[in-house]
Formats: sequence, C-alpha cells, structure tokens
Amino acid sequence: MSFSLLPIRDALQIRTGLLIGGVWHEWQDTHFDQVHPATNEVMACIPEAGERGVDLAVAAARKAFDEGPWPKMPAQERRRILQRIIDRIYEEEEVLAQMQTLDNSLPFTFSRESRASAKAVAGIFEHYVGWIDKINGETYPQYSSSSNMQYMTFREPVGVVAAILPWNGPISIFATKVAPALACGCTIVVKPSENTNLAALKLAQIFAESDLPPGVFNLVTGGGATGAALSSHPGVDKVTFTGSPAVGEKILSVSGLNMKRVSLELGGKGAALLFPDAPNVERAAKTLMSLCSMFLSGQVCWTPTRAVVHRSLVDEFVHHAREQVKTIHFGNPFDAATTSAPMITRKHRDRVLSYIDIGLSEGAQLAFGGGSPGGALSNGNWINPALFVNVNNKMRIAQEEIFGPVLSLIPFDNEDEAIQIANDSDYGLAASVYTGDISRAFRVSRALRSGSVGINGYSTVPNAPMGGVKRSGIGREGGWATIEAFTEIKTVNFDLDS
Ligand code: NAD
Repeated sequence: MSFSLLPIRDALQIRTGLLIGGVWHEWQDTHFDQVHPATNEVMACIPEAGERGVDLAVAAARKAFDEGPWPKMPAQERRRILQRIIDRIYEEEEVLAQMQTLDNSLPFTFSRESRASAKAVAGIFEHYVGWIDKINGETYPQYSSSSNMQYMTFREPVGVVAAILPWNGPISIFATKVAPALACGCTIVVKPSENTNLAALKLAQIFAESDLPPGVFNLVTGGGATGAALSSHPGVDKVTFTGSPAVGEKILSVSGLNMKRVSLELGGKGAALLFPDAPNVERAAKTLMSLCSMFLSGQVCWTPTRAVVHRSLVDEFVHHAREQVKTIHFGNPFDAATTSAPMITRKHRDRVLSYIDIGLSEGAQLAFGGGSPGGALSNGNWINPALFVNVNNKMRIAQEEIFGPVLSLIPFDNEDEAIQIANDSDYGLAASVYTGDISRAFRVSRALRSGSVGINGYSTVPNAPMGGVKRSGIGREGGWATIEAFTEIKTVNFDLDS
C-alpha cells in the first residue's frame, strides 16, 4: 500500500520566508515547490530570493560585519551566544531530524542517530565554538641587525561569507559551514539547496530567536539563479560551496572578478582497494555495498563507488555484496525498517538509471540490481542497488560520478596496478585500502592522489580535515584547516627603537 507524508508535513507547521537582518520576510516574488523524493508530494512552497533577495541579505550581512559588534566581540561573549544556540539545537533535535527526513528522505533512524543527526550537528558546533578563544597569531624572531622591528600576526575574520549548500546534508553541511564562519567572527548568508529547505528553515528560526546581533546570520532560499547571484555578489568576501564540480567551476570563475576567497567541496569517484591480505573480506565487501545502497543510497560525495578488488577475491566479493543487498528495505522513511533513501528527484533517478544502460552498453556485466521497484513504491524515486562486474576503469561508469546505488567492481592483479587504477580519475576526494599488512596500508595510502584515505574503513569527524584534490575541490573542512579558511592573516610590525 502506498503511503503519504502529508500528515507529518502538516503536523510540523513549516515556516518559510527569507531571514534577513534578523527579520523574517514573507516573500511576494516567485515561489517554487519542494517535493519529497519518496512520494513526489509537495512539502512546501518556497520563495525564490533572486537578485533582489540576495542584495538585501548581503547588505544586511555587510552592515553587520562592517559596523556591528560581532567580528570584534570578545571570545567569551561570542562563545556564550553560540553555546545557547547549541543548547537550542539539542532541544529541537527531534524536530530537526523530522525536517531532514522530510527534506531528503534520509531514513528517520539515521536522521536521529548517525553522523548526519541533529545531535551530531550540535557536536560540529561544539567543536568550532571550542576554537573561539584559541584563534591566535604568531610572533617572529628578529630577522637581521639592520632593523629592530617586531613582527607578529593576527587572525581576523574573512568577512561576509556566502554558504551555498547541496541537498544531501541539510543539517550537517549547514553546520560545517555556519559554525566555523560564526566562530571566526564572520557574518553569513546561507542558501540551502532548492530540494531541501525545511531543516535549514528550522535552524534559521533557532538563529533568529538567539542573541546574535541582527544581520550576522541570514538565510535566502532559491535555486541556481539565486546561488549565482549570491556567489557573484561584490559584497561577498568568501564563498564556501559544497556541491557538484560543474557548479563549483562556475563559482570559481566568477569569484575571480573581485578576488573572493573560495572553498569548494565537490564530487568524488572514490576507489576502495581490497587486497587478499585484508583482515575480513566479508566485512569489507558488505561495508562497500552498504555504503552504496543504504543511508542515502550512494548519494554521498565520499562513497567508494569503485571497488578495486584483487582478482582472487572477486567471486567472494560478489557473494557477500549480494547477501548485503538482501537486507535493504525501501518504504516510508519514517518506518524503522526502512534502510535506504530514494534518488533526490525523478530527473536524478532517470539519470542514474541511464548509467545502468551505459555500463551495459560499454560491456560491463550487471551482477544484480538496476531498475526501479514498482507497486506501492512507484511514486518514489528508488533504484534497486546495482553491482557491475568486469568493469574497465576507462568506462564511463568508472570515471563519472553517478551519485546513486551503483558500485563498479574493477579487478586487479598487483599493488602497482591497483594504485594506478585508483589514481586514474579526475576526482580525488576519498579512498580506502583494505589490508592486514601495515606497511602496505601506509605505502598505498601515501601513493593515492586523494584528499583522505581510510585504512580498513572510512569515516569523517568534525575535528579532522576533509576535502579533495583535482576535480573534487579546493580547501579542507574540519578542525584548524577550517579556521584558516574563514580567517585572514594580518601582519603587524612595530619599531622597537621608536
Ligand atoms: P549542485 O551543484 O547541483 O547544487 C549545489 C548548490 O548549488 C545548490 O544550492 C544549488 O542551488 C546551487 N547552484 C546551482 N547552480 C548554481 C550557480 N550557477 N551558482 C551558484 N550556485 C548554484 O549539487 P547537489 O546536487 O545539491 O549535490 C550533489 C553534489 O554535491 C555531488 O556532486 C556531490 O558529490 C557533492 N557533494 C560534495 C560533498 C563534499 O564534501 N565534497 C558533500 C556533499 C555533496
């Protein structure tokens, strides 16, 4: 029997609007519908901020930065204001989890308890709030006897930040950008993805009710045109973007015009290298298949979508992957039994399905999966998780980011070949190595062209850097690397003899 999410939507009383200068604006201009991936029902009618909304929001953020107290506020005071926001996030944990599931259909069990949960997001804020009184500069020894100058550096907020978000981490990616920006004393304009506005609107409500000075936090909603207006706005000092490489490239090209600082967290085509000496082949195979088929069904940037498997392990890998997929359950995302999300839009589902056809036409073999479930699930955008075998790394299914439940198994015969396959990619976000040989683990990790490498597993945390090389982006998010990204160094020198 098909299901409806309208009763949950109606019970949550979703507030829309633009938050600008601490005030909610009921927008009269263009609106668009946000639809749910599991039912294609309308969840909310969302304002398109457009150039006019962006102008207002950037002006408010500019004023708060240039004239307001936030950038200069003593560390302790800034920390207390943000700490109260963290307390409110904990109080609203359940509602935020519901909003996230209404946004992108992440199964509610994960919205509640996982690294994407509201609790984990409060943890991201806690991490960055902990930095506030530790954002320090350096002093330098006298360089030569020709002058007696003392040099020192200060780290100052980078200015007005534009944060442009993707749809797959409505609260976690929001926090990864907003928390460090505010901790560093910046002011910010956030634009969530047009597909997922609800959790961001709820978080904006928490910020609107906080003690933040007006204009420090602003939220505009809208699609690509609003994003383009924001990322190219001359009043913005820095753009922090997570999303596709195609949009990342556009942002990078327009940001040069007024020398904006840019951080880009983009796509991936991660390789997981499975060696015969791996401590537990069954566990590795099931982990790799579940990363592609559970949670957001492979719609996560760092998912290893290329399983680079030693030829002697191929049959065993396929067997365990097949067993893992039997545990997948599609259905109402609020049911505890549901393990996996549908594709974010119908269009994206069709795009992913087209890659199944491309793989077959390129000569890869489908071990299982592909196609969409019918019946009660036909209103949603699900795809049956697929495993391709006999994949050649030159094929499009091995080179292009599919962003769905499609794993490509590429066999190898020796370590050098495995490294060469992994590195033969336009992307370099995340990779992993499964081996019980500690020397091999580090030798291979060092040889991979990737922003991060997991050994016998992979995970991300707020206090360690994450980001990509090559087409996967510019910059790192996590820990001190993020503080550097939201601050400018100012060098001050003075004459000790004056
Ligand atoms: P997307 O690039 O389509 O959209 C991202 C955001 O950019 C949205 O808010 C969108 O409205 C906005 N946008 C669109 N056109 C724009 C323009 N011309 N100028 C400025 N903004 C514009 O990406 P998506 O579909 O939301 O997310 C999926 C992509 O994000 C995948 O490629 C995935 O790998 C990547 N991603 C990367 C990370 C990471 O940490 N590296 C994390 C999550 C997602």
